[in-house]
Amino acid sequence: MTYDKNNIFAKILRKEIPCDKVYEDEFSLFFNDINPQAKMHVLGIPKFPCKNFSDFINKADHNTISSFFKSVQFVIIKLKIEESGYRLITNSGEDGGQEVPHFHIHILAEEKIGSLR
Ligand code: AMP
Repeated sequence: MTYDKNNIFAKILRKEIPCDKVYEDEFSLFFNDINPQAKMHVLGIPKFPCKNFSDFINKADHNTISSFFKSVQFVIIKLKIEESGYRLITNSGEDGGQEVPHFHIHILAEEKIGSLR
């Protein structure tokens, strides 16, 4: 499956639809999830077009990968959740329950996130 240029996050990156922005830099964009699953629910996406985590790691260069994950940590500091804790999630493909086919990381925080099992 090729990257779908018309997925909703690609449209957000092209500013065709708005988002509630938390942070943006050359490599990444972070915004509040429209349907939050915790008191704090932020999504982080690389600007690099990629379907999921594996596609990102396979196709992006080292600087792009490193910069994206450094930005995730920067946002964790900015949101003041490093000490209280957070959960990072990325869903991939059908079995992973991915809805939007542009790689994204969910940052869930500000309450105790339930057990995964
Ligand atoms: P996933 O199931 O991992 O693909 O997660 C997709 C996430 O994107 C869900 O948590 C949705 O609530 C969220 N979402 C979908 N559309 C938007 C949007 N326009 N702005 C912000 N979040 C969105």
